[in-house]
Amino acid sequence: MSHFYKCQSEREDYGQSKILFRRSMRITMLKKIGSLLFALSVLSLVIFHPIQEVSAETLSDIPDRSKENINLLIEKEIIFGYTDGTFKPKNPVSRQEATAMIGRALNLDNTKQKTTFPDVTSDMYASGYIASATEKGIITGHSDGSFRPNETVTRAQMAIIISRAFDIKGETKKSFPDVANDSLYYEAINSIASAGISVGYPDGTFKPYNKLTREEFSILVAKAISENGDYVVQEPSEEKPEPQEPEEPKDETLDVLDERIVTADSLNVRQGPSIDYDIVGKLTTGNAVKVHKLEGDWAYVSYGGLKGYVHTYYLVAKPGEATPQTVAIDPGHGGKDPGASANGLVEKEVVLDVSLMVRDYLKDSGINVVMTRQSDWYPSLDGRVAIAQKGKADAFVSVHANAFMSSATGVETFYYAAGMTDRERKSYYLAKFINDRLYKAMDMNNRGVKNAGYRVIKATTLPSVLTEIGFLTNDNDARKLKTQHYREEAAQAIALGIIDYYNWRD
Ligand SMILES: [Zn+2]
Repeated sequence: MSHFYKCQSEREDYGQSKILFRRSMRITMLKKIGSLLFALSVLSLVIFHPIQEVSAETLSDIPDRSKENINLLIEKEIIFGYTDGTFKPKNPVSRQEATAMIGRALNLDNTKQKTTFPDVTSDMYASGYIASATEKGIITGHSDGSFRPNETVTRAQMAIIISRAFDIKGETKKSFPDVANDSLYYEAINSIASAGISVGYPDGTFKPYNKLTREEFSILVAKAISENGDYVVQEPSEEKPEPQEPEEPKDETLDVLDERIVTADSLNVRQGPSIDYDIVGKLTTGNAVKVHKLEGDWAYVSYGGLKGYVHTYYLVAKPGEATPQTVAIDPGHGGKDPGASANGLVEKEVVLDVSLMVRDYLKDSGINVVMTRQSDWYPSLDGRVAIAQKGKADAFVSVHANAFMSSATGVETFYYAAGMTDRERKSYYLAKFINDRLYKAMDMNNRGVKNAGYRVIKATTLPSVLTEIGFLTNDNDARKLKTQHYREEAAQAIALGIIDYYNWRD
C-alpha cells in the first residue's frame, strides 16, 4: 500500500473513528454514570452522612489508645462518626476522603470546582479540596493523569501527603526494613517518622503498602497538627518540592532560549521532565514563560517566581512584534506513528531531521517558526493544526517522505483547494514555490503540485501544504535521503520556497 493511500485513508478514517469512539464513549459514560450514582448513593448512606455532634466519648468503637487523637479531629470537624454511633476505626480511607480531611485540617478552599483530573468532576463532594490540595502541591495524581478518588490510600501515600501538607522535614535517619532507601516514599516516611508522627509497627516495620485505616489516619493527622502547634498550620512553601533532582539547573546561571506562550487552561508545572514528577505549580492560557532548556518534549521554564518543567505541546512561540511572517513546520508522523519505512529509512526520523534544519534556515532569515514537534512524539493531526494556529502561524508546511512501488520516484507537493479562495490561492503558490526549489535541489523527478484533501492541510484556515521529499521505497531517492548532503539540500530548498512565498505575498 502506498504511503499516499495510507495517509489518505488515515485521514478519512479519522472522522469515522471519532464517531465510533463517541458512540462507545456514550455507552461507557452511561454505564459509568449508572455505577457512579449507585456508588454515590451507597457512600452517602454509609460514609458521607456524618453526625457532627457525635463525640469520641459517645462513639462506641474507638480504641482507648487512639481516643485522644480521634477526639481532637472530631472536635476540629476533620473526621466524623457515623450515624449509627460508630467510628469504624478499621475502615479504609479513600484518596478522596483523605484529601477532604486534610483539606479541612488546613482550611483549604472546598468550593466544588473543575480539577485537573479527568476522573474528579466538579460535582464530586471533595472536588474543591482536591483542586486546592493539588494546587498547593500536597497531592498529585497517578502517572496516567488520573486521581482515582475511590482508591484506598496506602500508608506510604499518606506519609507523602502528610509530610507535604504539614511541611514536615526529616531530621534524623529512621530505618524500616521494608522501606528501601531509594524508594519514592523513603524521604516522606523518614520525615514523619523522625518527627515522631509515625513510629511504624511494634515489630519495627512500616508496611508502606498496607491500606491506611481511619484510626491510623486520625493518629497521623492529630500528631501532625500537634507538631505544628495545634491549628497554626504552615502553608507549604513555594519551592517546597525537595531538590532531589540533581539535574535541576541552578537559577542564577539560567540562560533564556526564548519566550513562549501557554495554550492550556491549566498547565501543570512539574519538578522534572515527565508526568511522574510532582506538580510544583500551574500556568494558564496566555502566560508568557521564559524557556531555559529543552529536554525531549519538556521545557524547563520560569514564570515570575515559578520554575519547573512543562510539556512543550502546550507552549507556542511568542508572536513576533510587527512581523507576521510566522510559518508552522510540521515534521510528519512521530512517536507511535513511524510513517513509511524502506531501505533502512524511517519516515518520521528523516522528516524530523530535515524539518529541524528548515527551522534553522528560516530563523537565520528572520522568519518566525512554530514547530509542531521537535522530537520523536506524535501530536494528533488536529493538534498539529491547533499548535500552528495558536502559535499565530500564517502558513503551514508539513514535511513527509513517500512510499510506493520501487519504481516511483521524485518530489511532489500537495495543497488543498475546493474553490478559489485567497487561502487556496496562497496554498497553491506556497506549494509551487517549495516544489520548484525542491526537485531541483534534490535532482529528482518532478511529480508536480497536486490538489489533495489531507486533513492537516484541509482542516486549517492557513495557507497549507504537504511536501513529499522523495520515495523511501526507491533506491535512488533513498540513497540520497540517507546522506546529510541531500537532507541539507531538501531543508534549504523548503526554506527558500517559503521565503519565495513570503516575497510573493508581501
Ligand atoms: Zn507521511
